[in-house]
Amino acid sequence: MERKQIAVSGVDIPLYSVRAAVVGSGAAALNAAVHLGRLGVDVAIVTERMGAGVSANAGSDKQTYYRLNPADDAGDSARAMAARLFAGGCVHGDLALVEASLSLLEFHHLVSLGVPFPFGRHGSFASYRTDHDERARGSSAGPGTSIMMYEKLRDEAALLGIPVLDGLTVVDIVTSAAPSSRRVAGLVAMSAAPGRDAPYGLSAVTADFVVLGTGGPGALYADSVYPASQTGSLGAALAAGAAARNLSESQFGIASKRPRWNLSGSYQQALPRYFSTDEGGAGEREFLSDCFPSIGTLLAAQFQKGYEWPFDVRKIAGYASSCIDLLVYHESVVRGRRVFIDYRANPSFPGTAYHAGALPAEAREYLERSGALKTTPIERLIGMNRPACELFLKHGVDLAREPLEIAVCHQHVNGGLCGDIWWESSVRNLFPVGEANGSHGVYRPGGAALNAGQVGGLRAAQMIAHRLSAGEPSSRDDGMPAMRGALDARMCECRRALAAEAVDPRTERLKMQRRMSRVLGILRERATIERAAAENADDLRRHNGSGVARGPDLPEFIKNADLLLAERFFLEASGIVVSRIEGGRGSYLAGTIGDFIEIDEEGRVRALLPPAAGSMALDEIVELALEADGRIASRIVPVRPVPREDLWFEKVWKEYREGNVYSPE
Ligand SMILES: Cc1cc2nc3c(=O)[nH]c(=O)nc-3n(C[C@H](O)[C@H](O)[C@H](O)COP(=O)(O)OP(=O)(O)OC[C@H]3O[C@@H](n4cnc5c(N)ncnc54)[C@H](O)[C@@H]3O)c2cc1C
Repeated sequence: MERKQIAVSGVDIPLYSVRAAVVGSGAAALNAAVHLGRLGVDVAIVTERMGAGVSANAGSDKQTYYRLNPADDAGDSARAMAARLFAGGCVHGDLALVEASLSLLEFHHLVSLGVPFPFGRHGSFASYRTDHDERARGSSAGPGTSIMMYEKLRDEAALLGIPVLDGLTVVDIVTSAAPSSRRVAGLVAMSAAPGRDAPYGLSAVTADFVVLGTGGPGALYADSVYPASQTGSLGAALAAGAAARNLSESQFGIASKRPRWNLSGSYQQALPRYFSTDEGGAGEREFLSDCFPSIGTLLAAQFQKGYEWPFDVRKIAGYASSCIDLLVYHESVVRGRRVFIDYRANPSFPGTAYHAGALPAEAREYLERSGALKTTPIERLIGMNRPACELFLKHGVDLAREPLEIAVCHQHVNGGLCGDIWWESSVRNLFPVGEANGSHGVYRPGGAALNAGQVGGLRAAQMIAHRLSAGEPSSRDDGMPAMRGALDARMCECRRALAAEAVDPRTERLKMQRRMSRVLGILRERATIERAAAENADDLRRHNGSGVARGPDLPEFIKNADLLLAERFFLEASGIVVSRIEGGRGSYLAGTIGDFIEIDEEGRVRALLPPAAGSMALDEIVELALEADGRIASRIVPVRPVPREDLWFEKVWKEYREGNVYSPE
């Protein structure tokens, strides 16, 4: 990597030049950087902050990695795993096949780096069944699997000597040439402490290839279990013209607010008590019992929630596990009460106190075999999974002494930027990897996100190394006018914002986040989405006419525009999908609350009304892209099936030797 200066409108701005820039330092970005470094590519990492993001900070009771199960006696295969990923709906079969085929390679790569996935005496790795999985393809290194992935990959990147531009937030992806032959030319980034080293903290990076590992849009929702350090940068890629798919599809589930943590697995299987209070903490009430017919059905749904963490519209009928999420949502979002989960006492039910005899057989056996058939939820949690308890202690919360405030939180976006089988976007040489890439559909097996992030990084690195060896010309010179234009535009914007009427960027963001939690949570309705889209347009107009009082607020202010653009795309995608399905799909119900919840005169839930089976449009994908005139173009694309491959050795070997595997089909 070279460092020089570039003079724009009479001021000098730092200019870094590298062949491949990897943006972000989560598990996906770091893995791409490691593979690029090993393949001999001149690569640098540009990141907001080492140690920020989801991978480095989030987890659950047993954070899962999904991969082929080599110890499956019935014989697992890449095709079988691809079929499972494809069955999630709105998934392209060729992407599913790549994720399945390379899942073991990337899993073993992590093992070789030292991520402690447990293996037995004879070397086989242990596996378990996760959500939407029939073959026990889940593995885990514990509650902090992704944290360990982040640490090992970070250390490996350092060993390889890959330079890191730390403390730089990418605000623009610069492209050269006309939209039809658009390709990446570099990045404009902004320092978290503007004004220290350059005007407004701006820097430029020229790069022929950009791997975008900036993660999901964590700051889009108020009720969110993304770590606060993950805000996301989808807007920069969308503004550069990269197409997006499946932005309507996210995962939501029950999580604690402070600290932000998924309450899946043992956190539910310990069978804690749920209660709500008014804003001031008074009027405590165990609301779950309102609509369950017996304590047995309530405990069964709670226990099942451990395995079935994400909200799923198919799990409402028959008092199934997603009734819990829907009731929590109703109590908090619709009724405006605070909801808590409490490990100090057992759930109670009118007329029947909790007793071990009320436990469903499955829960009883599980607790017994785990040595956790104890009297209180906290004892059961410690019996099953002591680290899950210690984790909260580390964050200053003693579950034995205090309840946890919870919400149905946004946890993951299944959609994202469109990528092909090499994870290349619709913009040449721009490769979104990890959560920034929308390779998943409506349902995904638990752990598939971490696997897709690793596989995508490998594929992007392979294609970049191939293009370089095939003599890909540098875009440095023909991209320079676009780079100057982008830097000039950002300087003008900063100057304007510092002179305009100041707003507090945090207050503005919170308004958008609350709107998203209200409108695009687990309940969605066309008319409300349309109103939110109009509010989003107003907010963007106001943003463009307002500013900040001080230079240090500029990065947050500029991030708000990125988030508002992302919100606009999410609303557009969801509006289209809601008009094409009936009742709901995956993680959201489509309709009004009255379609799914019957209440009595006191506002208590009398019954839950599961959506009638209707069209879920699982064989099509909504793709969106920003047009030159600022409109969003949408198209409905049929899913591509899982390809049938001819893997005759001599044929594949020849294609591989000649580099034809990299050519478009
Ligand atoms: C609570 C929780 C539990 C989860 N459990 C599981 C699980 O069990 N299994 C599973 O498969 N998935 C799980 N997921 C999802 C999975 O962890 C994430 O999808 C994955 O870690 C994302 O990795 P990433 O590398 O794409 O992004 P991240 O790890 O979020 O990294 C993004 C990086 O980009 C940087 N960045 C962002 N914007 C910019 C910018 N503009 N300029 C420079 N840098 C930028 C950030 O600082 C960060 O370094 C879970 C998610 C959460 C929140």
